[in-house]
Amino acid sequence: CCTTIGSSVIPTINRLQDILTPVSGELSKISLPQVAVVGSQSSGKSSVLEALVGRDFLPRGCDICTRRPLALMLENRPRKPDDDGKEWAEFRHLPGKRFYDFTKVRREILAETDREAGRNKGVSENQIGLKISSPNVLNMTLIDLPGITKVPVGDQPTDIETRIRKMIMDYIRQENCIILAVSPANSDLATSDALQMARDVDPTGTRTIGVITKLDIMDRGTNACNFLLGKVVPLRLGYVGVVNRCQEDINKNRSIRDALAYEEQFFCDHPEYNGLSDRCGIPQLAKKLNQIPVTRCLVALQYIPVTRCLVSYVSAHFLFQILEQHVRIVLPSLKAELNSRLTAVAKELQKYGQVVESKAEQEAILLSILARYCEAFSTMVDGKSQEMSTK
Ligand code: GDP
Ligand code: MG
Repeated sequence: CCTTIGSSVIPTINRLQDILTPVSGELSKISLPQVAVVGSQSSGKSSVLEALVGRDFLPRGCDICTRRPLALMLENRPRKPDDDGKEWAEFRHLPGKRFYDFTKVRREILAETDREAGRNKGVSENQIGLKISSPNVLNMTLIDLPGITKVPVGDQPTDIETRIRKMIMDYIRQENCIILAVSPANSDLATSDALQMARDVDPTGTRTIGVITKLDIMDRGTNACNFLLGKVVPLRLGYVGVVNRCQEDINKNRSIRDALAYEEQFFCDHPEYNGLSDRCGIPQLAKKLNQIPVTRCLVALQYIPVTRCLVSYVSAHFLFQILEQHVRIVLPSLKAELNSRLTAVAKELQKYGQVVESKAEQEAILLSILARYCEAFSTMVDGKSQEMSTK
């Protein structure tokens, strides 16, 4: 998936940044685009996000694990000569404390969840902020959300379903939010909570991508081809089928790299998916995310950056969107500034008189000056004038 496609977007951004720096105060007004995952509990949302980022750090499991929204802010750190290039994480609630060990990041997410939402399956809408600084990512935000549940368990209130739905809605109703509607392949797509919610806020389907997880544990004799082809529930941007790590893999600490290799092998071993290779696998999901603006702006395709982590592949799209928004906002003032400078320069130019380009024109002007000089000279000789002006 990570093959070279065109050149990097970075030089273009740097150039634009140079031009736009005088008005960069406007940048703070831009709300950054986000990718949010929605779906039922244990549908595989956190697993999908982890696979996209290429790092193990989110709590996952067959119980309710994500109990608070987690805003995962990826921040690009330009590589400097004295930088060791290490990735580190920092929580909003622990400013200044850098985590280099991502197992500890997961532990802190769990602890911080407990602090706010209690230890007994409680849920809270208070967001956990986690920043990841790395030279291998580009600036973007991913949101992991609690899954939709129906029956209250533990300390959950009786209206748990309504509360979680509202929490999800607060994120996905924002126009700049790309929705990953996650549904497991071993349940009926027509009853998918994820697709239903996504349709409520994005009826035209311009920012929803369907993700079908758990293709590996479908009932024997069945497959997800009809889902992926959009024959069950049509979706404009289409679907991607993925195979994430199962609970046993998680317990055995199987790495993301191994899981991606396993996924690739799975699709090779299942001939029914052969003709659908553009809709199968995490790398295809990353690619699809990147292709959203391509339908709107073809040039984006030429600017897919090439770095080792999948999420950078995704983020070219966001970068482009941010830039597009930025340019839109600053363009009016930039235009006014340029116009006033243009007027000043034009005035100055006028002072220098007529612009003469060709040799013939120069000769004609010289001739006319000479003619006027001769005329002035003869009037002076005739005693009609005291001065000799060629004006
Ligand atoms: P979430 O609640 O939607 O965030 O789901 P999680 O990512 O926590 O996953 C729930 C459970 O499903 C975990 O035990 C995962 O290991 C398992 N799981 C997720 N995706 C897959 C998949 O594609 N295949 C299999 N076999 N298990 C999966
Ligand atoms: Mg989760």
